[in-house]
Amino acid sequence: MADEEHHPIEFDFPDISRWRQSASGAEYVHVLDSGEPGPVVMVNALTHGNEVSGAIVVDALLSAGLKPRRGALILSFANVAAYQTFKIETPFKSRMLDEDFNRVWGRIDMPHNGEAETREMTRARVLLPFVRRADLLLDLHSMHDDCVPLMLCGPLDKGVALAKQVGTPIDVVRDRGHAAGRRMRDYGGFGDADSPKNALLIETGQHWRASSVVVAKDVTARFLDLSGVVEAGDLPVGWRQPDPPAQRVVQVTQAVATKRGDFKFVRRMHGQEVIAAAGTLLGHDEGEPVHTPYDDCVLVMPANHRVRPGVTIVRLGRIVG
Ligand SMILES: [Zn+2]
Repeated sequence: MADEEHHPIEFDFPDISRWRQSASGAEYVHVLDSGEPGPVVMVNALTHGNEVSGAIVVDALLSAGLKPRRGALILSFANVAAYQTFKIETPFKSRMLDEDFNRVWGRIDMPHNGEAETREMTRARVLLPFVRRADLLLDLHSMHDDCVPLMLCGPLDKGVALAKQVGTPIDVVRDRGHAAGRRMRDYGGFGDADSPKNALLIETGQHWRASSVVVAKDVTARFLDLSGVVEAGDLPVGWRQPDPPAQRVVQVTQAVATKRGDFKFVRRMHGQEVIAAAGTLLGHDEGEPVHTPYDDCVLVMPANHRVRPGVTIVRLGRIVG
């Protein structure tokens, strides 16, 4: 696929400008407090500016006037500045401005002496007190390639357990985080096995598929219901979908990155495709062959498009549950 060829955009992007003003003190971050004891639950959209299914969901929850019965609900749009740069001719560019918002979370607590920093880091500092406050976080994402939905539950058992309680989608991906920088979903207590805090990251499907919105609504409704801050009947009608067949958990064992950006698969690969035999040729990076390292190897988010040097082309995983 050429860089800018992509799936057609099947929905209208929401005008979220009316959510800019907020009593929380942070633009595009809304804190709904029940005044009753209970967990602080955060649902966040637009960590990546072109991942719109999540923005549709958060916009809809705010529009519906959803109020928590217990605890507090934080509804946020993260990289709004990137979202607002969207151009139909270059739809992938609005993912970020200066750097990936989801790689700054390992650096955010380091001493900061006021020197210039990326717009993403500046925005992450605005979100930080809310992320710290959250007991439960759902971060809504979507994917460049046309791939089945994936729940990224992080490295810990508690993430897997929460993904199973949510009960959808079929594919739960357990990984060790991101080598290029810590994600929001791995920050602080979310990444600490001894903390009761927990977080999930849902990849709802291709960025602009209508089905990605259906997945985002389903997962969000299940997550909020499970959290206890609302009751099922408080949620918009029709969001929850039937339970899928049994979920499966894929443990990512390694990531394959391209050295100089000229990786080519031997054929078009499908997300979550299982390659039966160890040693099967997947593709070539600068002419060097890349093979599957073990039997029943799952291809997690293969990038069939060209990516920049050093970027992950596919993660490889084993089915563990
Ligand atoms: Zn994303």
